[in-house]
Amino acid sequence: MEFASALTRLSDPEKAASSPRQLHELSEKISATITRLFRKCENGGNPFLFALTGPKPHELTRRFDTAATDGKKFYWNPDFLEKLDPNEAATIMAHEAYHVLFYHCTPERSGGYKPNIWNIAVDYVVNSVVETDHDKSGRNSKYKLWTGVIGPAIPLDHYLESIDGTRDWPDKGCFGDVTCYGRSPESIYDAIMKAMAQSKRKCTGPRTPIGQQQPQQIPQPQPQQAGPNGQQGQPQIGPSGVKACGNLSWDPKTGQSVYGPGPYATDQCEDCGAPLNGSMPGIGSLDSHLPSAQTKDETMGDMLRAAEQTRSMGRGDVPAGIAEALGLLGKPELTPRDIIRMMCSNKVIDKGNVNDWKRFRRRPEFIYEKDADGIYQPKHRLYTPKKHDYMPKWVCLLDTSGSMSDEDLVHGVKELKLVSGVGEGWVVPCDATPYWDKATRITSTGDLARTQIVGRGGTVFDTFLRELPEQKFGQNVDLLIIITDGDCGEIPLDLKPPGMDVLWIITNKRDFKPNFGRVCQLRPSRL
Ligand SMILES: [Zn+2]
Ligand SMILES: [Zn+2]
Repeated sequence: MEFASALTRLSDPEKAASSPRQLHELSEKISATITRLFRKCENGGNPFLFALTGPKPHELTRRFDTAATDGKKFYWNPDFLEKLDPNEAATIMAHEAYHVLFYHCTPERSGGYKPNIWNIAVDYVVNSVVETDHDKSGRNSKYKLWTGVIGPAIPLDHYLESIDGTRDWPDKGCFGDVTCYGRSPESIYDAIMKAMAQSKRKCTGPRTPIGQQQPQQIPQPQPQQAGPNGQQGQPQIGPSGVKACGNLSWDPKTGQSVYGPGPYATDQCEDCGAPLNGSMPGIGSLDSHLPSAQTKDETMGDMLRAAEQTRSMGRGDVPAGIAEALGLLGKPELTPRDIIRMMCSNKVIDKGNVNDWKRFRRRPEFIYEKDADGIYQPKHRLYTPKKHDYMPKWVCLLDTSGSMSDEDLVHGVKELKLVSGVGEGWVVPCDATPYWDKATRITSTGDLARTQIVGRGGTVFDTFLRELPEQKFGQNVDLLIIITDGDCGEIPLDLKPPGMDVLWIITNKRDFKPNFGRVCQLRPSRL
């Protein structure tokens, strides 16, 4: 498909690849992964993930050992990516992308928690969503999750037993347990913390209260005592207020610390040798959890856009866990103004993320040259990529036909208020005919007051759509907003879709299903 073929986008800005050959092979792997995602679920694809991640660039880096995303880009350690097959790479991509959708890595969500434990808790949540979708979608008939480099899955209760000391630490695997589906990361975090508190592995040192240690104290060579077996026999914690080590350092079988025999350095626990900044023995998280570089609006916009695209491709459903998250964001909570803002912010993302050489600025720039008369003339058109500061342009068709009540009009126009500062907008009254000459340009909220209500005849949408490109503001419109009472009898059902996003704001409860665009019912009671 045209989408898929345009999506070879692995770059290596840090020269992380070990050779040009490795870079080439990894690029092929990313392409193959994305191409596979486009397939139907029962053929091993993941259309939602395709829609969600297709537009995002991929970069090699050695800043992380495995993979990571900040919502805007995917990062891969070349040696890790090399070990993955395309299905495994898709699993990692889903894992990464869902962390972002669930806002797992935002400071508001994870603040105050021990990062290494939080990372494990959110991995359990994300992997349960990945696995539930894998089973429900039928993708499991094509390949198994949690195999190869990623697997095996470590059930949560096994992991809690490892923490407790009744089970050995897993030597490889990922935090995957489908029974965690529906649980919050907070509840899993609490379960892990509880197990740690009761663990037989727990170090209750250090023997010397931290406050009484000499800053530059060099550990005295001393005969190494056998580590305490379990909690019995362990030195008591010092005076109150001293931070205990608390690390899961002791192996109940051998009575030895997993950090080896002492003496230890000053930045290690005097008792067990654990680093004093805290660590967790056993395996770590599957990936690096970066804070999102996107705003919540952008992430919501990504999710909505991917969901719509998945449905419109007719390629199956949005994954169940994601659908729930969407349900919270979607109807009926979402007002038209939320949707408009999201659609606009999508445009900014789509068009302006980075210099995008496939999308040129619409207003051409030229290199000027003097002509024979000494006058500068535009000669060479410059192809300037779109930049960060892309301002979306929207046009609103305001239905002023007789069936629209004054209240409808007021409430409809109100929805434009919050977006009136976003980019450039035009409001065009329209009944039996569009009143192009009465169009109001909107760049600030104040402009809305000048919106003219003219005509009160029938409604002719096809005339509007046909004539729109001929208007001075009708070129390159990003978003068309149609505020109408959805009088279906007068809207032809075979309108030709315009080449832009369309949002229908329907001012009443009438069931209205146009053949393109998104529909949003206005509920005046909420305004
Ligand atoms: Zn993760
Ligand atoms: Zn310790």
